Amino acid sequence: MAVRMCPHCKTEITAPEAAARSNDIECPKCGTRLEVAPGSRTISTLAGLAAGTIAWRLSTGSTSDLGGVLPTLYAFLAFGIVSPLVLMVTANLRNAPAVLAPEPAHASSPAGHGGGGLDAGHH
Ligand SMILES: [Zn+2]
Repeated sequence: MAVRMCPHCKTEITAPEAAARSNDIECPKCGTRLEVAPGSRTISTLAGLAAGTIAWRLSTGSTSDLGGVLPTLYAFLAFGIVSPLVLMVTANLRNAPAVLAPEPAHASSPAGHGGGGLDAGHH
């Protein structure tokens, strides 16, 4: 099981906390804003879809009166249960990209000193 912790101060973040608030987690110790890395969310979504597909296929085989409704229901439930579980297990935290570092608007070019063309033939 992966350990979720603040990349800043190494404080451990509980799994339910990370899964429930994957977009906006705040480190309880240093207050750094964190988020679940996108890769983990993709994995959990894919796992949820896979579970939903399996549940749908299994329940489609049954020939009951509710045959038309249950597969969808099972698939929905499977996705809703499996996806957050996988997210809790696989989630990695990273710093949320909320604060962008201010970049200098223009870099000073080393070659730029006057219009060099006129001075060239001045000899
Ligand atoms: Zn922290």
